[in-house]
Amino acid sequence: RAKEAGRDVVRFFSADMQATVETHAALVRDLREALAAGAFSLHYQPQVDGEGHMVGAEALIRWRDARGTLVPPGLFIPVAEDSGLIVPIGQWVLDTACAQLARWQAEPATRALSMSVNVSARQFHRPDFPQVVRACFERHAIDPAGLELELTESVVLGNLDEAVERMRALRALGVRFSLDDFGTGYSSLSYLRTLPFDQIKIDQSFVRAMDEDVSSRAIVRAILAISASLSLEVVAEGVETEAQRDALRSDGCGLMQGYLFSPPVPVDVLQSQAWFPSTSPST
Ligand code: C2E
Ligand code: MG
Ligand code: MG
Ligand code: MG
Repeated sequence: RAKEAGRDVVRFFSADMQATVETHAALVRDLREALAAGAFSLHYQPQVDGEGHMVGAEALIRWRDARGTLVPPGLFIPVAEDSGLIVPIGQWVLDTACAQLARWQAEPATRALSMSVNVSARQFHRPDFPQVVRACFERHAIDPAGLELELTESVVLGNLDEAVERMRALRALGVRFSLDDFGTGYSSLSYLRTLPFDQIKIDQSFVRAMDEDVSSRAIVRAILAISASLSLEVVAEGVETEAQRDALRSDGCGLMQGYLFSPPVPVDVLQSQAWFPSTSPST
């Protein structure tokens, strides 16, 4: 009996694994087709300063699948990373975000807006990445100072020396770097000393907990103090309530991003908001 049950278990798991492999392969195929068919789009989430003025946006990818459903990146970016498809997808994101940045830079009211783009490890470590970024600036004739590349700790973790060198090369072009999901990794503090970041983004898990949990608030304050002493700009992510905004403001956090201000939205929706910077029509 035990043997039989064991056999069943083995059969169950292998059938399950088979299904997983097939799902993965189907997803890779769907992603490749989506890229070719132009089924990806970018949504933009505003970043606001202490007075609530929009100062920039983060570009976040969306995928409209064959059923018309908008698939969140958490469900397909990991697969794109595993399969290497993140390289062409990431290049599409960079190119599309730079095209948008160029449009903003062409208008006086939106000239100073920044554009943040998430970069995966596979993209960042490709030998041609600096060239790809540079070609993107040239194609769209943008001022590189408006572009912020968001990296997570895991992107730089593998090869610190190479990452530093690569970041320096890109910063020499004028690009800025932001450390995403700060506080969720391991040795974030020592990286801050070594890596040439311009900005850090406090992970939303701390922001979410800061009004009910004193230790989260203490961590946020410590991050703000360290950032100030290292002259790093700080963005708090995932700000959902006025209480969180007020606490962050009184703790001296300069920039915020979250549903309280706006979820990520298509560019036409973003630009139609009353708070979107625009040249006031002459009367
Ligand atoms: P992230 O870069 O940390 O982006 C922030 C995520 O938090 C976004 O999820 C955003 O929609 C969500 N968010 C913003 N404000 C709030 C809030 O107030 N409350 C809550 N609960 N969530 C909020 P999204 O768009 O689903 O993206 C998830 C992750 O997928 C991103 O995390 C990023 O790591 C990755 N990702 C998105 N777009 C790209 C891309 O173009 N390339 C790469 N490599 N990764 C991307
Ligand atoms: Mg990000
Ligand atoms: Mg983040
Ligand atoms: Mg992230």
